[in-house]
Amino acid sequence: MALELKAPRGTGDVLPGDSYKWQWVEQMARETAASFGFREVRFPTFEYTELFERGMGDTTDVVQKEMYTFLDKGERSITLRPEGTASVARVCLEHGLFGGLLPLKLFYLISAFRYEKPQAGRFREFHQFGAELYGSASPVADKEVIELAGSFLQKLQIKDAVLHINSIGCPECRKTYHDALRTYFESRSVDLCGTCQDRLKRNPMRILDCKSPVCKEIASSAPLILDYICNDCREHFESLKQGLTQDGIVFQVDPRIVRGLDYYTRTVFEFTDPQSGLALAGGGRYDGLVRELDPKMQICGLGFAAGIERLISVLEQNGKFVPSAGPDLYLASMGEAAVRFCGALAMRCRAAGWKTETDLMGRSLKAQMKYADKLNAAFTVVVGEDEIASGMLVLRNMRDGTRTEVKAEELPVRLKELLVE
Ligand code: AMP
Repeated sequence: MALELKAPRGTGDVLPGDSYKWQWVEQMARETAASFGFREVRFPTFEYTELFERGMGDTTDVVQKEMYTFLDKGERSITLRPEGTASVARVCLEHGLFGGLLPLKLFYLISAFRYEKPQAGRFREFHQFGAELYGSASPVADKEVIELAGSFLQKLQIKDAVLHINSIGCPECRKTYHDALRTYFESRSVDLCGTCQDRLKRNPMRILDCKSPVCKEIASSAPLILDYICNDCREHFESLKQGLTQDGIVFQVDPRIVRGLDYYTRTVFEFTDPQSGLALAGGGRYDGLVRELDPKMQICGLGFAAGIERLISVLEQNGKFVPSAGPDLYLASMGEAAVRFCGALAMRCRAAGWKTETDLMGRSLKAQMKYADKLNAAFTVVVGEDEIASGMLVLRNMRDGTRTEVKAEELPVRLKELLVE
């Protein structure tokens, strides 16, 4: 049977003509994170399953339905990371990072895996830029994390994303809210999906982000958390709103965003794309997460993650990408000796920092020039017996056709002068 040469459903390849888009978005992420004092952390693609079950909550959609979980050859249950937050908390606990300088500010660029129904903007393997801030309970920290996400979108020139914020309270005020939700959903329980019937008993808030259309419709008239939060949580939220307003950050309070994971407390937020309605980035505060993973440790935290595929798709729709430049120099060769000469010369040009290519295909001079043209090379040089004998080369500017005589040993320096002009 013929091999099916197709990437698995819900995954994608980044082709050479597109990879510069990814590199640019990643670079903007690194620069924004650095400007806020966040440092990079890297961690494994998979963890022991328990980490996500405990960290994200075993009544969440992600844990119940979407994780790639398997037994490894040692019979341990392993899960491909569905997000970064629980892993980063694990890294900090394992390496004692919470004992160091606070606040601890970390960022990551990762792939993540969720077994979801693939559709526009939703994949089974996707990529995230995420940030986590540990050690501050102040609403100023919430503001800073929201501003980090917002600045990243600004840097990408995505200016029309809409910021939605909400407070989902603390475990204390949530008890009253859970009771109100239970009373409401019990009256409609026969219409809820099987998973939500179970959630009704264990964690009624999770019904609010069920993806089934019937549950969604029922949830649309459910009581709102903002009517139930305690005074402390309300003050925290008011202070965040004031801070954002002071910094000129436009936001909408949306009492319906609760976010899909159990670990959130108080602030939750999302930046959405007004065209598709999809969330480009989302996050919030999770003061109970670390204690859930290690009961001896109490440290508050918050963070967000932005989906790279969705950002690239918005940028493509807005025509924001300029194709990457071709090589600085193409060295065309005529004959065996010229191939060797060009090889050595190319190495010197590269060492000087120039993107340089030579012929690897044994093509005719005409075909080599055609190739250099297709690559969009800025300069070309043709090397034959005469050039090797005299050591003099003619550097041709491919944009305007001008020619400059250059000594071979001076090529890297002359190229610099001409490229900078
Ligand atoms: P979440 O952890 O679900 O809040 O995800 C954070 C961000 O990652 C979202 O705002 C999306 O931009 C992106 N994202 C989440 N799930 C997917 C997915 N299945 N495919 C593509 N992007 C996703």
